[in-house]
Amino acid sequence: MKVAGLVPFTTIDFPNRLAGVVFFQGCPLKCPYCHNPNLQDFNQTGTLSWNEVISFFSERKKRLDGVVLSGGEPLMQSDILKAVQDIKGLGFQVAIHTSGIYPQKIKEILPFIDWVGLDVKAPKEKYHLLSGREKISSLVFETLKILSDSDIDFEVRTTLDPKHLTIEDIYLLASQLKEYRIPQFALQKYRTFPGDTNPPSQSEIDSFFENNELIQTLQNDFNRLVLR
Ligand code: SF4
Repeated sequence: MKVAGLVPFTTIDFPNRLAGVVFFQGCPLKCPYCHNPNLQDFNQTGTLSWNEVISFFSERKKRLDGVVLSGGEPLMQSDILKAVQDIKGLGFQVAIHTSGIYPQKIKEILPFIDWVGLDVKAPKEKYHLLSGREKISSLVFETLKILSDSDIDFEVRTTLDPKHLTIEDIYLLASQLKEYRIPQFALQKYRTFPGDTNPPSQSEIDSFFENNELIQTLQNDFNRLVLR
């Protein structure tokens, strides 16, 4: 298990729970707006052993409700099932943040996890632009179908990158998502990051949330819409 780091306490990464976050090293994608590019290289060694992670959380059983497994892409770890079971064994609830490109892994761990944050980065036609990889949208939508057909609580989240996505793209994405059971759809504003050499203007960033017709349509289409 390659652990890049952890955050001891968060109130925003696992809805309605006080949680810690474990960041795993490695992600096969290259999203243009990635805030953790240092976590992409799977060949980098981790900074913490799994035993250190377990011992860290063992001492926090009374203070936390859950642990979020994030990254990078946590499902890239070959022994992610063991990680989930170890954390559950301590009595915590477990959340996973994933790009959705490992549907078989999701299937395997689904009985043991309590919440999923699934990135759906773009409508299928533009997925390569927002992920840096060809032909992965079918995997992401397969993961979405697995979650949708189960009874797990989850969120689909999309980062509104104005350099690659238009208002029309979000309408198209919504039409592709609508057929699934999605407990919560979250639209996330683009956030600039160190090394962002050509960031969009603030008005471009704000343009999605300021489009009342789009927001109204999404509120009608989805059970719960979150703007953040
Ligand atoms: S999926 Fe997440 S960690 Fe991987 S490149 Fe994209 S934003 Fe970065």
